[in-house]
Amino acid sequence: MFRPTFAVLNIKSLKNNLKIVQKIASKSQIWAVIKANAYGHGIKNVWKSLSSSDGFAVLNLKDAIQLRELGWEKPILMLEGFFTNKEIKIFNYYNLTSVIHSYWQIQELEKIVLRNPLNIYLKVNSSMNRLGFKNNQINYIWKKLSKNINIKNITLMAHFANTDKTNDLNLEINKINQFMNNIKYKKSFSNSAAIVWHQQIYNDWVRAGIILYGASPNDNWNDIVNIGIKPVMSLYSKIISIQKINSGDKVGYSPYCYQSESQKRIGIVACGYADGYPKNAPYGTPVIVDGIKTHIIGVVCMDMLIVDLTYCEQAKIGSHVELWGENIKINEIAKLAGTIGYDIMCSLNARVPIQII
Ligand SMILES: *Cc1c(COP(=O)(O)O)cnc(C)c1O
Repeated sequence: MFRPTFAVLNIKSLKNNLKIVQKIASKSQIWAVIKANAYGHGIKNVWKSLSSSDGFAVLNLKDAIQLRELGWEKPILMLEGFFTNKEIKIFNYYNLTSVIHSYWQIQELEKIVLRNPLNIYLKVNSSMNRLGFKNNQINYIWKKLSKNINIKNITLMAHFANTDKTNDLNLEINKINQFMNNIKYKKSFSNSAAIVWHQQIYNDWVRAGIILYGASPNDNWNDIVNIGIKPVMSLYSKIISIQKINSGDKVGYSPYCYQSESQKRIGIVACGYADGYPKNAPYGTPVIVDGIKTHIIGVVCMDMLIVDLTYCEQAKIGSHVELWGENIKINEIAKLAGTIGYDIMCSLNARVPIQII
């Protein structure tokens, strides 16, 4: 017998989501962002189904090399660029596109001679103050890089902090344009949120992450459903024990145990925070047991969580439990647990087997 906790990846939904992105961003080429092991889904599990994208975006050289070895010939974008000068030649060998976000990287590119020039993404720090060059430096740096024989094509890249306000975004973009006077340049600005909510932004390349996996970049789940995006990952387990409790009985570890105010039938589910279910999911977080919606009670344990079966009369040992997926949105769980959908998917633990359908 195997522990009955497993994730299912719906490949049809993954392909469907990419098609939708391609339709929305029909004037752009698409980077499929598969960093963080494809947001917890596994690069190996998803890359083929995303191969009608125009390129893959990752962070680790290991992932890029794996993709080349799997036979991927289209572009690969390294989202944080090279971390040391030693990596530049490897980037060159594997034909990787490097983000250039800091001055030291430019200096390293001036010190060497490469066999083939690199394609680069020049990152402008449009608002986040994380990576990139300030708007007013960008024109100067662009010109400097254009003269570097190690560099082939330059694309200007921005990553927005704020995708909720269209006006703020347009201001950012206008500011970038203003500093790029007289330079015709290729752009890659939009992430999932901008692809969905700011279709007016022109991109030569968009960078789609979370919507490919079927979740929303924020709490606004309805807009995602309305454009036909479907969840890819589901997490399932089973009821492995049933208890009957009386009013006043406690459930789970103290001091944060749940104390019942009535007689209840409760079910123990073989899934806990060490599987990737959020530790902070509170009382009331929904689960589906044999098709009936109920909720968790008490705190989530390392390997188990506890659900109320009082109104799931048919539930028994072995009953099927959906923790998230087709019916319970990952965003809904994330919100209740005080986090975001990204965090939940990326946290799926390696001990959870993944089944592909
Ligand atoms: C992760 C990442 C993305 C993808 O973001 P989503 O919100 O998942 O679409 C795009 N661009 C950069 C620079 C990133 O790091």
